[in-house]
Amino acid sequence: MVTLATGQLYVDGVLRNAAGDRTYKDVSPWTGEVIAEAADASAEDMEEAIAAARRAFDDTDWATDHARRRALVAKLGELMVANQDRIVEIVRLEGGAAWGTIMGPQVQFALDAFPGMLKVFDDFKWEKDAGVVEAFFTQSRRVIRREAFGVVGAITPWNVPLYVNVAKLVPALLAGCTVILKPAPETPLSGAIIGELAAEAGFPAGVFNVMTGEDPAMLGEMLSGDPRVDLVTFTGSTVTGKRIMERGAQTLKRVFLELGGKSALIVLEDAPDYAMAVAHSMMIYHAGQGCANCTRLLLPRSRYAEGVAILEQAYAHVQWGDFDDKANYMGALISERQRKRVLGYIEAGKAEGARLIAGGGIPADKGDGFFVEPTCFVDVDNKMKIAQEEIFGPVLVVIPFEDDEDAIRIANDSIYGLSGAVVSGDFDRGMAIAKRIRAGTYSVNGGIWSAPDVPFGGYKQSGLGREWGEAGFEEYLQIKTIAMPAASSANDVSAAAMADTI
Ligand code: NAD
Repeated sequence: MVTLATGQLYVDGVLRNAAGDRTYKDVSPWTGEVIAEAADASAEDMEEAIAAARRAFDDTDWATDHARRRALVAKLGELMVANQDRIVEIVRLEGGAAWGTIMGPQVQFALDAFPGMLKVFDDFKWEKDAGVVEAFFTQSRRVIRREAFGVVGAITPWNVPLYVNVAKLVPALLAGCTVILKPAPETPLSGAIIGELAAEAGFPAGVFNVMTGEDPAMLGEMLSGDPRVDLVTFTGSTVTGKRIMERGAQTLKRVFLELGGKSALIVLEDAPDYAMAVAHSMMIYHAGQGCANCTRLLLPRSRYAEGVAILEQAYAHVQWGDFDDKANYMGALISERQRKRVLGYIEAGKAEGARLIAGGGIPADKGDGFFVEPTCFVDVDNKMKIAQEEIFGPVLVVIPFEDDEDAIRIANDSIYGLSGAVVSGDFDRGMAIAKRIRAGTYSVNGGIWSAPDVPFGGYKQSGLGREWGEAGFEEYLQIKTIAMPAASSANDVSAAAMADTI
């Protein structure tokens, strides 16, 4: 397996090694081999990054110079496209992404996010004239204005590392915030490459910083606890999200949390191509390491046996785990730790009495990578641990339902509410179900919601706030109301309010 260049930190406008030249090993999920060294940031390095981001926000015109920010973010997007081959190599090698996922969320969606969010930025209204009212015998004109939120700590996961890094830093930078990106320890180069390209684009010192490190918690805890950080945007596990919220409360930070999910796909008995809808539910995409995956499949009792037979056939023939096959959607799990976790859930499923119809173990023919076979449990009760907890592995659980009401009840019987899907021959029936599922995104008959111009995020314990679209952009903005004597004309107000921003 090839090796990649050493990843560096990007601090206060400079690409550099971690203090004391400390590095750690970046391991490929495909083989368990070391493929690169990455900078191992210390508390001292993070301290420098937070101070730099604070200075850049407080002492420069970054937050108010819209045109300059737009130009730099656009330039970064162009450099990402120009370096696409390197980026693809990083995401495949360190992230374990199979070729089939590269044109989707792993790389292409991240590149598309730049023009997508630039369009949101271009269409955005930074101020609004709220008209004149009389109060306390004074006629006042009010203007509602949006301003950058401040210093942002962005803490990201390993499952779609490039995409989530971009999902946070692009809107935050366009909003006028300064950013410290802390990628997951497992995928440092997917963050370091963005620092490298930002340096090439010529971002001002301190505006954007990248801090990689081996310790899973230390750098993130610094961000969630430091009073100089105004907002923490996080994607990862619900447990860590709660910890960030708890720590952030000490300094009343805004927290944006994109957490886990246990979404349900409901295939109704009238689905136009029942066999295809069922077969496509196999949990193989990126080995099930996706927060919005439909990891529960709900099948109608009237066609349940038929559905199970379809799945047995589909799993018997699925191709997966080949590094070079462009049609593969499934590689290895990110780490040995994650593999142990997934295997633990598979044992729990067996112990709870679910019936295993595919996979369930480590494949004999795939070498030393962190592979787990595509796995499917049927006859699952929604109360079981494997139906309630996020496994984050290639494990589908299949649950029978009696009628639409029962399907809705089961789908909503979860602490999570990130996503979901329904397939029906009757569009109105599908839409009626979509409206009753408590989740932030939903697909009817194969509709794709994933795009930079529409919001994404969770109900319940799947998170707080929204990423992408105008709602996602607004996460990084404060709202200010300015009132003045009514005699000030709307044009004066507009000119004064916008003078520092265009
Ligand atoms: P995690 O939540 O522990 O890690 C995600 C990010 O948070 C990483 O950058 C990590 O370094 C950082 N982090 C860890 N502890 C922190 C702390 N105390 N304060 C601040 N930051 C901290 O996730 P994980 O351990 O890598 O994976 C565990 C489980 O999380 C997975 O099995 C999966 O269920 C879930 N997960 C979900 C997503 C998602 O997109 N929803 C992504 C990754 C993992």
